Amino acid sequence: PAKPTTNEIKGNPIPGIQNIVAVASGKGGVGKSTVTANLAVTLAKMGFKVGVLDADIYGPSIPIMFDVANERPLSVNIAGKSKMKPVENYGVKVLSIGFFTKPDQAVIWRGPMASKALNQMIFDAAWGELDFLLLDLPPGTGDIHLSIMQALPITGSVVVSTPQNVALADAKKGVAMFQQESINVPVLGIIENMAYFTPEELPENKYYIFGKEGAKNLAEDLSVPFLGEIPIVQSIREAGDVGRPAALQTATPTEEAFETITRNVV
Ligand code: ADP
Repeated sequence: PAKPTTNEIKGNPIPGIQNIVAVASGKGGVGKSTVTANLAVTLAKMGFKVGVLDADIYGPSIPIMFDVANERPLSVNIAGKSKMKPVENYGVKVLSIGFFTKPDQAVIWRGPMASKALNQMIFDAAWGELDFLLLDLPPGTGDIHLSIMQALPITGSVVVSTPQNVALADAKKGVAMFQQESINVPVLGIIENMAYFTPEELPENKYYIFGKEGAKNLAEDLSVPFLGEIPIVQSIREAGDVGRPAALQTATPTEEAFETITRNVV
């Protein structure tokens, strides 16, 4: 398919980086990182230049999802300055806060510390030209998020939620966080993840395990766009675990679902 043109979000003060899109969730475990990884590979397949910055200080999982957990960014010299070179896989450049912490060590970050580390990963990194830098935010809506968002020039945000009430309540806080006056980041929309389950032997059946259309209804209530839904699919989980995002597989319903959502984002 032809590469879509970006229209909704434009302009970023970092030279070379057109758009920084924050992916947030409110609640943890709803699939924020899975969605980020799959959006990134889908954007790359469409021909965009893409980077992912994993800012999930509580549990950076992007290195595993991109099969680069054992790699470390190299230092390169650009115009006399030492810069971090993102690692790359599947046509996506990746930097993660996980590259700078020991895997089994609990790190307690304060807002300013986290935003400083992220600032370096944006401004002191050799990203090159990017159409999209996806920022995988930590779950929640605390001080740390405010610090990150005030420090970084974010052009738009998407909020991931399951249809479950507890997740929706937190997603609502996430949208409110982006819309508050001191942040004021455009909300590109809400993505419903784990929308339903269809067993292989009953392909016509949809089981709404976490409730039906909760995120879709929330988007309507909040007057923000609904970007689409992803069902619960075993291969999405497996693909994440082996470090090869499911949307890389061609001609599958999963590829199609992520393509629909990605087209709604750009
Ligand atoms: P978060 O970033 O919100 O904490 P993750 O992306 O780490 O969530 O996802 C939590 C778990 O759920 C992971 O094991 C992931 O593989 C799985 N998962 C996420 N989305 C789906 C989906 N649509 N279908 C099946 N498993 C999923």
